[in-house]
Amino acid sequence: MERNKLLYEGKAKKMFQTDSPNRLIQHFKDDLTALNGAKKGSFNGKGAINCAISEILFKYLEGHYVPTHYIERANNTDMVVRKLEMFPIEVVLRNIAAGSMVKRFKIKEGEVLQTAVYELYLKDDKLNDPMINESHALAFNLATAEQMRTIAQIAKKVNALLRSFFERRNLLLVDLKLEFGHIDGEVYLGDEISPDTMRIWDKISNIKLDKDRFRLDLGEIDKGYKEILKRISNV
Ligand code: ADP
Ligand code: UDP
Repeated sequence: MERNKLLYEGKAKKMFQTDSPNRLIQHFKDDLTALNGAKKGSFNGKGAINCAISEILFKYLEGHYVPTHYIERANNTDMVVRKLEMFPIEVVLRNIAAGSMVKRFKIKEGEVLQTAVYELYLKDDKLNDPMINESHALAFNLATAEQMRTIAQIAKKVNALLRSFFERRNLLLVDLKLEFGHIDGEVYLGDEISPDTMRIWDKISNIKLDKDRFRLDLGEIDKGYKEILKRISNV
């Protein structure tokens, strides 16, 4: 499948049209951003690593009856996906306190949460992605009540599946961000699942292997991403 017109360029990916109106090519860039785009960086090969990690995780989830947009790999940095009508919502699941949670609440980084926390954010860079709840989503007509129920159900299932998937590879899934869309009303998991969009720590040492290495200037960002890919490959 060939890339046609560039449909959208975001901070970490480019979305291209294809010959098929129902398919897009999702290209993973080497760029890294944090602080809503204010902090910029990149490393060679990041796009390929994130594409490979996302592919492994989407395939794993599909194997467990999670509907995802993934169709096939096009090349090292590109995958063919179903074209979705995206909900302008970021869904965050947290298993261990980190990031904005430790700033917002009286909880220490690394504290294991009693149950997974489910959060919604409005995807709006100009507003800095404010936190919302389900009633905002319905009031703003972002999705139907049934779609919001489906999103919550799939998101919690994805978190549970991936948490144990990583645990078996001696990795802790601290938190992750998911994006959903629909085709004729039917909900699918879209976007990416990569070290850019989840926090992953080594289970023994608690060393951070994800984008926090960039956010917090910890160095060796590429090493962290490569380690995650290595541990989830060929198993
Ligand atoms: P951002 O827009 O936050 O800078 P990206 O660089 O990741 O993010 O851009 C990818 C864009 O493509 C996002 O807006 C995302 O919601 C959207 N997207 C992801 N998967 C699909 C899909 N299957 N169909 C249509 N749009 C998608
Ligand atoms: N996240 C993301 N995109 C965003 C905001 C958050 O992928 O625009 C991910 C982030 O990588 C982490 C989780 O969502 O895995 C929770 O992020 P948090 O709310 O702690 O915000 P942050 O500290 O990353 O700004």
